Amino acid sequence: MQLTSKLPAVGTTIFTEMSQLAAEHGAINLSQGFPDFPVDERLRDLFAHYVRAGHNQYAPMAGLPGLRVAIADKAARCYGYRPDPVAGVTITSGATEAIFSAITALTGAGDEVVYFEPAYDCYVPAVRLSGATPVPIRLRAPDYRMPWAEVADRVTDRTRLIIINNPHNPTGTVLAATDLDALTALLDRHPRLLVVADEVYQHLVYDGRRHESVLRYPAIAARAVVAGSFGKTFHATGWRVGYAVAPAPLTAELRKVHQFNTFSVIRPVQHALADYLADPTVYEGLPDFFARKRQTLTAALAGTGFEPLPSAGTYFMLARYGALSDRDDRGFAHWLTRERGVAVIPVSAFYTDGTDEGVVRFCFAKQEATLRAAGQRLRNGGGGTVTKS
Ligand code: GLN
Repeated sequence: MQLTSKLPAVGTTIFTEMSQLAAEHGAINLSQGFPDFPVDERLRDLFAHYVRAGHNQYAPMAGLPGLRVAIADKAARCYGYRPDPVAGVTITSGATEAIFSAITALTGAGDEVVYFEPAYDCYVPAVRLSGATPVPIRLRAPDYRMPWAEVADRVTDRTRLIIINNPHNPTGTVLAATDLDALTALLDRHPRLLVVADEVYQHLVYDGRRHESVLRYPAIAARAVVAGSFGKTFHATGWRVGYAVAPAPLTAELRKVHQFNTFSVIRPVQHALADYLADPTVYEGLPDFFARKRQTLTAALAGTGFEPLPSAGTYFMLARYGALSDRDDRGFAHWLTRERGVAVIPVSAFYTDGTDEGVVRFCFAKQEATLRAAGQRLRNGGGGTVTKS
């Protein structure tokens, strides 16, 4: 069959690759970002309740009105900005769908899209499918700060979109108010420029810092699509429920894509989430909950030869492995999975040119026992019993 790929450079994602390899080798899976602990029983019960109560037919295309109100109320509470729940909040099949729909709706041939590398893997394929041109800007180890002077040079009248990710996957960096001020100034200078803000780790910010959501900055919020994730927030990545917050004109365009792709999202989960969100303690406790896990992973890596880099947010931590191996990072991640029974993500997967700085990503959204067992395996050279994770 004659077939010209629309995405010739794309293979299977590194997350699928490493999780599969982990399963094959019985490795502890600290690669793909998902929790190994259960969803809160109350949320599971709510989901079961709404399934049993018969809420199993199509939800409205834009999402259940009650959930959209709950999201608007939560944004008001967290960021002092209440999006319009009717015309400004859309429930999507995971944040990935929110990001895909936004990029597809807002960009086309001739447009440039500025984003930062290392970058989460779903941005560039969506840009390419839209016929737009991705323009990467490099974040540099060890602190991976946004180089605003370079951004100012690279953003031109051709730039339609800038994609930011805060807290940042895979580096764990968290933007400061000065970064958002710089973005505001940039938007001021470029009237055509729009923003996609991937904020799926919005509640995972540590050490008492505050999350500088673009929703705190009215001049940015007026030109942004913000993607959020209930999978990441409530330990339910398999439910695939996320959302997009955007001003009405952007929301209208985004929904044109959403309605012919996903159409609408699983209904009983939306009912459950609407009820669950009424209690703010369900997300207010998350920084402490995950900071303890970050501490456990840091302790587990002590004495293993890995050199962890600071993680201020997300549930990921980068670590250098130069003292352990001179393999390339993908080779090292495969070797570690096979020979030491711990799976990680090679960070070169987050660069379009495969930049390899000898860094891998650990996920710490795991039970403390899982993290400690991984540390033990890394210290003992892979001994001990092998259990499926
Ligand atoms: N967001 C998850 C991570 O960064 C991966 C999701 C996926 O497998 N596509 O690990």
